[in-house]
Amino acid sequence: MTGVRTTCAYCGVGCGVIATPQPDGSVDIKGDPNHPANYGRLCAKGTNLGETLSTEDRLLHPMINGVQSDWDSATSLMAEKFQTAIREHGPDSVAFYVSGQLLTEDYYVANKLMKGFIGSANIDTNSRLCMASSVVGHKRAFGTDTVPCTYEDLENADLIVLVGSNLAWCHPVLHQRILAAKETRGTQIINIDPRRTATSDLADMHLGIKSGGDVALFNGLLNAIVDAGAIDQDYIDQHVNGFDAAISTARETSLDQLMNLTGLSGDELTAFYSAWIENKRVVTIYSQGVNQARDGSDKVNAIINCHLATGRIGRIGMGPFSITGQPNAMGGREVGGLSNMLAAHLDIENENHREIVADFWNAPTLPTQAGLKAVDLFDGCASGQIKALWIICTNPAVSMPRANDVAAAIKNVDFVAVSDIIAKTDTTVLADVLLPATGWGEKDGTVTNSERRISRQRGFLPAPADTKHDWQIICDVAAKMGWGNAFAFKTPSDIFSEWAAMTKLSRDAGKDLDLTSYAMINDVEYDAMEPIQWPIKSDQSDTRFFANGGFYTSDARANMLAVAPQSNASVTSIEYPFTLNTGRVRDHWHTMTRSAKSPTLSTHMGEPYAEIHPDDARALNIKPASLVMTESPHGSVILRALITDRVQRGQIFAPLHWTSLWASRARIDTLVPSLCDPHSGQPELKRAAVKISPY
Ligand code: SF4
Repeated sequence: MTGVRTTCAYCGVGCGVIATPQPDGSVDIKGDPNHPANYGRLCAKGTNLGETLSTEDRLLHPMINGVQSDWDSATSLMAEKFQTAIREHGPDSVAFYVSGQLLTEDYYVANKLMKGFIGSANIDTNSRLCMASSVVGHKRAFGTDTVPCTYEDLENADLIVLVGSNLAWCHPVLHQRILAAKETRGTQIINIDPRRTATSDLADMHLGIKSGGDVALFNGLLNAIVDAGAIDQDYIDQHVNGFDAAISTARETSLDQLMNLTGLSGDELTAFYSAWIENKRVVTIYSQGVNQARDGSDKVNAIINCHLATGRIGRIGMGPFSITGQPNAMGGREVGGLSNMLAAHLDIENENHREIVADFWNAPTLPTQAGLKAVDLFDGCASGQIKALWIICTNPAVSMPRANDVAAAIKNVDFVAVSDIIAKTDTTVLADVLLPATGWGEKDGTVTNSERRISRQRGFLPAPADTKHDWQIICDVAAKMGWGNAFAFKTPSDIFSEWAAMTKLSRDAGKDLDLTSYAMINDVEYDAMEPIQWPIKSDQSDTRFFANGGFYTSDARANMLAVAPQSNASVTSIEYPFTLNTGRVRDHWHTMTRSAKSPTLSTHMGEPYAEIHPDDARALNIKPASLVMTESPHGSVILRALITDRVQRGQIFAPLHWTSLWASRARIDTLVPSLCDPHSGQPELKRAAVKISPY
């Protein structure tokens, strides 16, 4: 068989892959040399995708209460349970919790069913945990959720600042592109992270910032920009509101306070500010260390403020650049997969937007307000508000903060359905009905990566046993609920073309999404579709936004926001004196349901661990490689001690991946409180108070 061009299953870089099934049943994986995200490069996770394709642990048949069933019985039961809940308790008594791993077509029909036909906005996604604060930051600054940069900017920047991002491990191919640019044009790299990571090792400067110090740091940068006369007054005059208020708030923090809030010395601050000001072509990349915080949205706007004040946005080699964690977090945002959005970047609070979406779908009803965001959604399960829940393609009993409480909340719901490719996870064991879905390599659709590039995922393996594609399962349930006509899609390209036609609403409403040239796409054209980046231009000449203004606000001007640092940055107490920081390791992915199947990937990090500073380990009599109990008010886990000065004194780092299937007490998010950014609803997964002791 010849190779099939598809897209990697893992991160938001969105690398092109060529998958070639072999006569012995294995699949050869290579980077696609013609894909603009990676030009042939792959990281370890992408390279070893072929080792993850066995059907050994797969969910292969519909199950009802633990007994093998059939599709008709399973979807009929689901329709009946959802209809009963809606009839007896109203549409807001049901909820979907979906995933940035879904393909855009799956996401689109799930959102259409919940918002357009069930009539509730209670559909939220694990992308809430990943980048909801960036969405808020973009909307507040630009009027819409637009990422201004492209990957090409990384190769044309003179300075790349990586904030709260271990790019070398979490987005390795982008990091490789940056290192290649450093080699050829001497690009400077500055890494801002409380922990010294692989990314810090390869940077020219590492700023070991205090957790929670980012707003202060970037307000200080704004001050320094003004003091150095480095603002772009013409750009501000023509395109930006809010400069005076933003600078006045930034001025309220003295240098002493700034050093205290950031934990950085005056020399470190001066070196960073000078580098940022002196290099006009600067890209500031930010990731989960920025987003996963109680003030994540303010951090995003503090960064964007500096780019707006200098006009360093949308021009080659410049801009603020949010890098998404999941393969299709961006596609989910495009089709309205968050509970506070409508499809096509339209606003749920806007009556006019609601009307045009309802008209387009010929929908009986549309919710008039935002639905429950992830943390609130599971709180609604615990309180009894949610009577019927459908979890699709995600594992919240591991990945949500207060994960033990979330598992109990799911158990508390009258009826729970879970669609997954894996038979046994911490979440599937809580379901009344299990729906076997197809996985990577078996399904077809599209994903959008961090630079707004839409790529095809193409199937090259048959769907095993009774598995169905997620979009088919959702359409089957919709049909059983009486809405068959609106969900009569036969192929993913049917869905994509409806979705592309829908983006005309976005264009007509003065928003940024416009895929209408794909509205009539047929199966053959869809199958041949090359990666495309929006805004769609015939020659794809310049796909950056905002170099000449044109923001999506009512006056077409951007907003700088007055954002103040939080005065009480500390989360610790006498009882819980350590700050826990969570994150990924290089070769595992989320809750390991895929990556743990690869023996090669498991050799990098074999078990859950806690990085502990040597002084703290000595004080607590913790020996290298011993087991440590790590506790918070919400739970406890047992981890292997990795004693290293890569973490600061008083801090612990632990990876998020391991589940109770791999180690009885290693679900790290059982420790994390559900404190959220008030604007985005994104939980503070990067900063929890814990205590540690020898086990
Ligand atoms: Fe896959 Fe991300 Fe690695 Fe690219 S960088 S191969 S998308 S995991």
